[in-house]
Amino acid sequence: MDTELRELYQQVILDHNKSPRNFKKLENANHIAEGYNPLCGDKINLYLIVEDDIVKDIGFQGSGCAISKASASLMSSIVKGKTKKEVEKLFSKFHDLVTGKLNNEADIEALGKLAVFAGVRDFPARVKCASLAWHTLISALKDEQHVVSTED
Ligand code: ZN
Repeated sequence: MDTELRELYQQVILDHNKSPRNFKKLENANHIAEGYNPLCGDKINLYLIVEDDIVKDIGFQGSGCAISKASASLMSSIVKGKTKKEVEKLFSKFHDLVTGKLNNEADIEALGKLAVFAGVRDFPARVKCASLAWHTLISALKDEQHVVSTED
């Protein structure tokens, strides 16, 4: 990855960390889940309003490192309006990206803004920070009522 692109990605992450989107509790949420990454101390509470299999609204609260917060923020702005199936597909692509399995430039670009996490693959400890929000989202969609840990 060239330096210019890396700097742009860095900026997007810093921006989402500083002013996270959808950083709120949804009082009328019908799907909720809690995620925890003990390796870094990242915590997230996720609130969803799912209707007709579509994520109508999403909000999150929590504390953690810049990567975990930016990832939750970006995820929340991207999954709104998507079906459960679309969300699962996106997560699988995102997981491939952060674990370094997605190497084709076109595939990475197809992820849009999520591509900013491409650099995470060089930092294995950060992969869990970046994917915590997604694991929690999948759990919330399945309505599993327990705390999601990246160390299970
Ligand atoms: Zn973290």
